[in-house]
Amino acid sequence: MHPFTYIRAATAAEAVSRVIASGPRAQLLAGGTTIYDLMKLNIERPTHLVDVTRLKDLNGIATDGAELVFGALAPMSDVADHSQIVAEYPAISESLWRAASQQIRNMATLGGNLLQRTRCAYFRGGEPFPCNKRKPGSGCAAQQGIDRGHALLGGSDACIAVYPGDLGIALVAFDAKIDVLGPEGQRTIRVEELHREPGDSPDIETTLGPGELILRIRVPKTAAGRASTYHKIRDRESYAFALASAAVALDMEGDTVRAARIAIGGLATRPWRARAAEQTLHGRVLTLQAAREAGEAALQGAKPGHENAFRIELGARTIADALMIAKQRA
Ligand SMILES: Cc1cc2nc3c(=O)[nH]c(=O)nc-3n(C[C@H](O)[C@H](O)[C@H](O)COP(=O)(O)OP(=O)(O)OC[C@H]3O[C@@H](n4cnc5c(N)ncnc54)[C@H](O)[C@@H]3O)c2cc1C
Ligand code: SF4
Repeated sequence: MHPFTYIRAATAAEAVSRVIASGPRAQLLAGGTTIYDLMKLNIERPTHLVDVTRLKDLNGIATDGAELVFGALAPMSDVADHSQIVAEYPAISESLWRAASQQIRNMATLGGNLLQRTRCAYFRGGEPFPCNKRKPGSGCAAQQGIDRGHALLGGSDACIAVYPGDLGIALVAFDAKIDVLGPEGQRTIRVEELHREPGDSPDIETTLGPGELILRIRVPKTAAGRASTYHKIRDRESYAFALASAAVALDMEGDTVRAARIAIGGLATRPWRARAAEQTLHGRVLTLQAAREAGEAALQGAKPGHENAFRIELGARTIADALMIAKQRA
């Protein structure tokens, strides 16, 4: 047991200042489903936890303006089940419904979901496995080890860990942004720019600065929302992370694609927008063949290890299937 202090912040500004004042090992605490897990595994050892769950103005869902606005503390289950999101943005609802379990979705928040950490077994396994993300400079056990679930896109010699979340994939497809509050004030970041590729420093996972608190997620409204889906392929049908996933939204004119949005999960080191795949579809009749070609374009440049090459074909098929599901909703 590593001792830590616990305080409950009354305002967002207090949460930020408490984290900054408590030093580099202070952390924000939302639903706790990632952080407590990693503390029990001895991977995270915060000295101070600043609980933000009582900040009531950060748990709302607003759908009446030009954007969907989700408070960072909104529980995953509330957003997954919101009738307007289910009807008009099924990709967002499905990305949440297909994550974790009902109990976890009731506790876990959207902000915490975006910032969950990799499920790489060598990262979570602790010593004696070398892991540059957990202990910079120690090496990467996955490169020579079991890499069946590791990344094919966006990896480096230092790390090939997959970004495991589902919601972030749907948000990247919809060009969502987050508002964050830090010691210098408020700023806005595109969700696509929130997560970093590992490069030489896989321990630095996001572009957030010290103490920055996600306040809300904003999703621009689009007519393509209705013709959208989040298609997730995993080892079992429930309660498992993606082997490959795709968030797809279509703007159609009859059978022809006016514009397509495609982001992929389970295959890359961060939520991955597949713009080359989108380009192959513009102005084209959406047949299964066209969908297959888009899937293959998305996986161009994939770098397989020794056990995960099968996920290139799986990823291409996942995207193709997602496109055909979304087409049915147009
Ligand atoms: C068994 C299991 C299965 C799972 N399966 C899936 C799955 O299939 N798909 C999926 O997407 N997820 C899955 N998850 C992950 C789960 O969704 C996340 O643990 C959860 O969403 C994290 O949210 P939280 O509120 O509990 O975050 P916490 O654990 O409280 O926090 C996580 C991290 O985010 C930081 N943080 C939290 N809120 C904020 C904020 N507003 N601003 C800045 N920093 C913040 C914390 O400091 C911490 O570092 C699974 C988890 C478990 C335990
Ligand atoms: S893939 Fe990344 S997280 Fe996994 S062992 Fe290698 S450095 Fe660590």
